[in-house]
Amino acid sequence: MKYRRIKGTQDILPDMVSQWQYVENMIRQCMDLFNYQEMRTPVFELTEVFARGIGQQTDIVSKEMYSFQDKGKKNITLKPEMTAPVMRAYLENNMSNMAALNKIYYISPLFRQENPQAGRLRQFHQFGAEAIGSNAPELDAELIMLAMYINDQLGISNLKLKVNSVGDPDSREIYILELKNYFKPLLKQYCHDCNSRYKSNPLRILDCKNKTCKELNKNVPKLVDFLNERSSKHFGMVKSLLEDNHIDYEIEPYLVRGLDYYTDTVFEITSENLGSQDAVCGGGRYDLLSEQFGGPPTPAIGFAAGIERLLLVMQAQDKLNNDENFLDVYICTMGEKASHISMTWLQKLRKLGLRVDRDFLKRSVKAQMRDAHRQNAKIVLLLGDNEIENKSFSVKDMDSGKQSEISLKDIEKYLRNHLKTQ
Ligand code: ATP
Ligand code: MG
Repeated sequence: MKYRRIKGTQDILPDMVSQWQYVENMIRQCMDLFNYQEMRTPVFELTEVFARGIGQQTDIVSKEMYSFQDKGKKNITLKPEMTAPVMRAYLENNMSNMAALNKIYYISPLFRQENPQAGRLRQFHQFGAEAIGSNAPELDAELIMLAMYINDQLGISNLKLKVNSVGDPDSREIYILELKNYFKPLLKQYCHDCNSRYKSNPLRILDCKNKTCKELNKNVPKLVDFLNERSSKHFGMVKSLLEDNHIDYEIEPYLVRGLDYYTDTVFEITSENLGSQDAVCGGGRYDLLSEQFGGPPTPAIGFAAGIERLLLVMQAQDKLNNDENFLDVYICTMGEKASHISMTWLQKLRKLGLRVDRDFLKRSVKAQMRDAHRQNAKIVLLLGDNEIENKSFSVKDMDSGKQSEISLKDIEKYLRNHLKTQ
């Protein structure tokens, strides 16, 4: 074969798709309980949406985007995250007129040109939630509880919830000056990327994954010590709400998250089952994003979780859904006439809500029985010249191995009774 899939992308084959559907169904059920409604946005946007929304200095915008010019010379980017598109759609569709608070969720493919490795792909999938229209700390708590609830419903355990507050831009500015003073004499020891971050966005040095930098970062001043009164109070409320609702968390003073749009609460959920790409979920408040898009001041908070990483954790914890595929009925035919008639029965039984299939390869009866077995058929209906003559099916119960002959007019009743009691 000549062609291979593009590096960092995955084919999700049927057996794995059933796992995806299981996770997606669980996400939908949980979102529904928390009264979040689904939103879908285009797979591409004007590059500007991400460049402005996420921030030029972020890894995503500076090096990970899949961008191209279309025939109309418009700069287009395949979406690398969902918060900016959701905010764009929220403003464009005047969703604030529909409800004062919009609670939105999504499940979507995303694209980032990074180095593929376990848990890090170029096309990956996220689900997430965005609550737009309120700055209540109760909403921060609800959103974190929602993220934890979904993980819990998927049977995942041993997750770590890390929270921090990045405050507002004013306190962050003071903090950044303080940071620069701290970093300056140590710059030679920091990595190349961090040296350029020092000039463009020193906060991002705290987010560096390089070992030496991480070590050097251990004694950096903490952002929480620079929060103003409003931010401190907000953060205090969020923490006490989490405690009152028995959500275990750790304060992670250097958690700033990769994206520029965050204010106040930020959080991350990690799993020790994931090695170095250990984040399953990240989120935070982004009260200033709407204004960056030219919209009215609109407080908001959201999170996003990587579905591939969740599946890796579920696999490591043996929580994958192992419902086996099965057929209610397999119709096994002998001869041309039986093959013809069986099509009508396929249709009839499917209309009754039964999962039915047959052979399409003109296989021998023996090979058809093997196929029925492989597909976990509960019942095999055999149709040959004799049965056609007798207006009946030979019926084999695959569990007990029992065979009987049942007339066509009774077959529906037999299947109903038989499959119900299994
Ligand atoms: P990381 O630090 O792992 O690069 P991030 O900060 O870039 O994560 P976000 O942009 O906050 O991640 O995305 C939220 C979640 O989406 C992550 O916690 C992770 O589970 C998942 N994710 C992010 N990038 C990828 C990727 N390239 N492949 C697979 N999953 C990803
Ligand atoms: Mg990243």
